[in-house]
Amino acid sequence: MNRRKFLGASAGFALLGARQAFAAAAYDLVIKGGHVIDPAAKISAVRDVAIAGGRIVSVAEKIDAGGAQVVNAAGKYVIPGMIDIHSHAAATKGGPAMNIADGVTGYIDAGSKGAANIDDAVAEVKAGPQTGRILINIAKPGVSGGGAAGGELMDIANADVAAAKAAIAKHRDVIVGIKARLSANVAGKNDVEALRRAEEAAGNLQVMIHIGQSVSPLSQVMALLKKGDIVTHLFAPPPEAVIDEAGKILPSVLEARQRGVWFDMGHGRGGHFRWDMAEKILAAGFLPDTLSTDWTPEGRVSQFVDFPTVMSKLMYLGLSLEQVVAMATSNPAKVFEVFRGKGTLATGAVADVALLEMRSGEFEFLDNYQGKRIGKQKLFPAGTVLAGKWIPRPA
Ligand SMILES: [Zn+2]
Repeated sequence: MNRRKFLGASAGFALLGARQAFAAAAYDLVIKGGHVIDPAAKISAVRDVAIAGGRIVSVAEKIDAGGAQVVNAAGKYVIPGMIDIHSHAAATKGGPAMNIADGVTGYIDAGSKGAANIDDAVAEVKAGPQTGRILINIAKPGVSGGGAAGGELMDIANADVAAAKAAIAKHRDVIVGIKARLSANVAGKNDVEALRRAEEAAGNLQVMIHIGQSVSPLSQVMALLKKGDIVTHLFAPPPEAVIDEAGKILPSVLEARQRGVWFDMGHGRGGHFRWDMAEKILAAGFLPDTLSTDWTPEGRVSQFVDFPTVMSKLMYLGLSLEQVVAMATSNPAKVFEVFRGKGTLATGAVADVALLEMRSGEFEFLDNYQGKRIGKQKLFPAGTVLAGKWIPRPA
């Protein structure tokens, strides 16, 4: 190497060094040594994650944190913040913040409120720390606002298209679609008509339906769904489950998936999730697109319905950690426009990150029917980063 070439090369190194030093000083937060799982970027390996200005700047084997805040994630999983597309977080004061502690950095409140009381839920969404949106209940009074009749759709007059449309117009920034609960105890024989009205009020917006134990055949319900609509409570038992006695997924359900209808787990508390149904449906090769909790403060206590526990139950059922992380992050990010670009740790993405710890032991997992299973491993929340800001687990 002649002197001129040598000088050129060393100047190059010096420049690179200066750039690295500048970059290191520019990070706000570096999550070090965790096992990163980012299905969208096809990463499952030990990596550091650097964050600046509320965004992901780098995911690499070794990142010099410089003067940045460091979170030691050794022995933990580092994944994009979870997106819960079937939650009732906005029906509880402080509900969204309770979900942040679990690693849920985005959520959809699915039908807690209808046109008569939607303002409360809208206010809760706007007050919450993370991105939340609402599916308004097609029934004016919202969940269980049916009075003496029971379910909110027992009186079909509650499915008021004009009222729903007016509420959507008033809260276009927060309401992204419509929810209709179609089981017999909610809608009775009004299930199909309620869905027809939900679709009419929604127009181009998405509709989420809650299935299981409906009066009308599921095929009639499926026929009304359009691309982008969501079916929740995939693992609900009969009558009108997605699978028949012989273990075959109904043709109308397969056709719905084919034309772009999403299928969501929707854990819930009553009538929505039974072990044997989940086993049969998964064995038939019909996997949920998304996992969700159907979150309420009561469910959190009675059946431990928090997002990391729901993920753990699906792992107990035989799915891989990478699969459940995709169903919790990159997949739900595709379902609703508001989450596009989220559910990943790609460079430039908003820095919403969940740290999870996998513990081994004997863990009791419950379905909605007091069915108990013992899992050998369980995920626990271990800290959240929301838009680049580290939020430690409350003690
Ligand atoms: Zn629900």
